[in-house]
Amino acid sequence: MTIHLDHDTAAPAASETAVGTTAAPVEDSADALGAARAELRDRLLADGVLLDLGSPGLYGRTGVFERVYSAVDAAAVRSQADLDAEVLRFPPVEPLASFERTDYIASFPDLAASISGFTGDDRTHRALLAARERGERWEGFLEPADLMLTPAVCHPVYGLVGDTVPEGGRSFDILGDSFRREPSLDPMRLQAFHMHEFVHIGTPASAKAHRDDRIPVMHALLESFGLEIDVVPANDPFFGRVGQMLARNQVEQALKFEFVTPVYGPGHDATAISSANLHEDHFGTAFGIRSADGGVAHSACIAFGLERITIALFAAHGTDPDEWPAAVRSALAL
Ligand code: ATP
Ligand code: ZN
Ligand code: MG
Repeated sequence: MTIHLDHDTAAPAASETAVGTTAAPVEDSADALGAARAELRDRLLADGVLLDLGSPGLYGRTGVFERVYSAVDAAAVRSQADLDAEVLRFPPVEPLASFERTDYIASFPDLAASISGFTGDDRTHRALLAARERGERWEGFLEPADLMLTPAVCHPVYGLVGDTVPEGGRSFDILGDSFRREPSLDPMRLQAFHMHEFVHIGTPASAKAHRDDRIPVMHALLESFGLEIDVVPANDPFFGRVGQMLARNQVEQALKFEFVTPVYGPGHDATAISSANLHEDHFGTAFGIRSADGGVAHSACIAFGLERITIALFAAHGTDPDEWPAAVRSALAL
């Protein structure tokens, strides 16, 4: 197990790792990885863990999935109990106005998705039905509803803390739905999934301490599940040419770390099942938040990818939790 936390030593390893987490290693053939993903997906469907909803990355979940998923979430919450974080829950959609302030559309237009609704009259409805009758697409008759599907569950909190956070900052426990338009047959890459985040808003020092202090705790927790975990510097998949620069910058400044596990075996890239992120003043500036000392607030969040951890457990230990090693069941209180 390796933790690359030191800024200077992290940077060189980072460029390889960050590319490696999204692209296949040289010896890895895309076909072999595709086959490994298909095999896991088939097994989860055949063993009744997931139900295919007919769109890539959208699944129904059965009792056995929920049993493990709930245990993972409860263990994640227990591991962060010392934070005494304020609990907040939000709907799976956010107002366009708050989405705007996060600047998400500038960085991830390809992942964003908006809600539309029908606002027309009888005539438009008839036109819609006629198009549908002809077998044509009819969603063009819907109008934007000024609502976006939430892509990262910490988004709504920044607009709610007012213009100043008190001395010591504030910490939040936020569990919610995420939607990202990245259809895939990889059962680890869903379109609709859940993150449990622990967010801190405070000073540059308290935000960095939150991110850094949580890393060993998350690492130990995920390893207690019997998973092989590496903590690696990572980058977000910022869109386009400018995005490549942003991603490089994120790695060089060691802002984001991912907890990766080799779900598809040692010959394939490991998959991120959780992450720890330092946003610096990104949200503080966008939402006009200051810390008690008057400076622009900094923030950080750690995110447990609940479905990814759950599926990594099924991949590592099989689809019958009653057969899992006793230590793993005990760590999960299963
Ligand atoms: P990746 O590079 O693998 O797409 P990410 O950098 O986009 O991950 P984050 O934005 O850090 O992921 O989200 C926090 C966590 O949410 C991830 O570590 C992962 O466990 C989970 N997650 C992200 N995208 C997905 C997805 N499409 N399906 C399921 N879980 C996801
Ligand atoms: Zn977050
Ligand atoms: Mg992603």
